[in-house]
Amino acid sequence: MKLFSCGVCGSTVHFDSIRCEACGTGLGLAPDICDIAMLRDACGMAEDRHGGRWRLCAHNTPDAGCNWLVAEADDDPWCLSCRLNRVIPNLANPDHRRLWKRLEAEKRRFVYSALRFNLPITPQSRDLRGLAFDFLADGPGFSERVLTGHAGGVITINIAEADPVERERMRQEMDEPYRTILGHFRHESGHYYWDRLVRDTDLLEPYRVLFGDERVGYGAALQAHYENGPPVDWGERFISTYATCHPWEDWAESWSHYFHMVDTLETAFAYGMRLTPRTGLTGALSVDAGLDPYETRNFDALMAQWMPLTLALNSLSRSMGHAHAYPFALASPVIDKLRFVHHVIHGGVFADGRSRPSPEIASSF
Ligand SMILES: [Zn+2]
Ligand SMILES: [Zn+2]
Ligand SMILES: [Zn+2]
Repeated sequence: MKLFSCGVCGSTVHFDSIRCEACGTGLGLAPDICDIAMLRDACGMAEDRHGGRWRLCAHNTPDAGCNWLVAEADDDPWCLSCRLNRVIPNLANPDHRRLWKRLEAEKRRFVYSALRFNLPITPQSRDLRGLAFDFLADGPGFSERVLTGHAGGVITINIAEADPVERERMRQEMDEPYRTILGHFRHESGHYYWDRLVRDTDLLEPYRVLFGDERVGYGAALQAHYENGPPVDWGERFISTYATCHPWEDWAESWSHYFHMVDTLETAFAYGMRLTPRTGLTGALSVDAGLDPYETRNFDALMAQWMPLTLALNSLSRSMGHAHAYPFALASPVIDKLRFVHHVIHGGVFADGRSRPSPEIASSF
């Protein structure tokens, strides 16, 4: 994630900032330009540092808490993130309001990454190939349980995932080392973008070579996974145990992981992080985050920064008494899968919504 600066006093402000702590100026994020804009008056208009005019998203309310802005010329009342919603929970219920607000805050982080990668992110209400979100709560009966997942461009999230107690309970039940709201958005978006960017393209065969044949029955594969568990050597080929259950899930887990990696590297880049461990042989542990990871086409350069950065990140977490912030190990086949995700994302043809990656990318796998 980038760091931002207040356009009035120059102080550092953040992605979620609604006010500059130094000079008191009201702020919003203009997602179309991935920059902060300054609120100029009480009627909710904002101006970016280049003179562009913006207004508050219609979800800039206490219930929704959206700090994103809509371009003045855009007639949609909602920002680029909120307009993706198809169903939101019943806000008459205070628990729903609290949980939904948390989900939206994390969703904006996912949408930010999609915008930085120049991925197509059109609402399904405008384009049948587009994306939509349903945020749903469990009903009283077992049959009314909401399953988080993706189908046909609609990502469904059970709002209970925003409750930290419930999420931790599910994490332990599933025996997962890592479970976050943002991770859900990234994972489910992987299924959507597989349909858009891989399924009907030259990348399908190279995908199958790396991840396996997705035509094997999904339901039976999932059932076998829950009955038998992962293969004992899963860590030599997969990023997570869940990735072992089907090639679609392996892809979505790898896609999600690539987002974790790039967004965390961008934070390191924004802070100008340089790490030079004070031990003997330090070359492999050094970091000089000098590349904007959303822009760079050099996957190996990203990976060279990532491994030592995660070692330092985990050491810092342990010093604070927390578990490892990054509870993963990347075997060589997993790195190849991440490299493939990198190439799919940087096919360079997505700005206009086309989904066919460039031929040289397809032939390099
Ligand atoms: Zn300021
Ligand atoms: Zn919004
Ligand atoms: Zn999945």
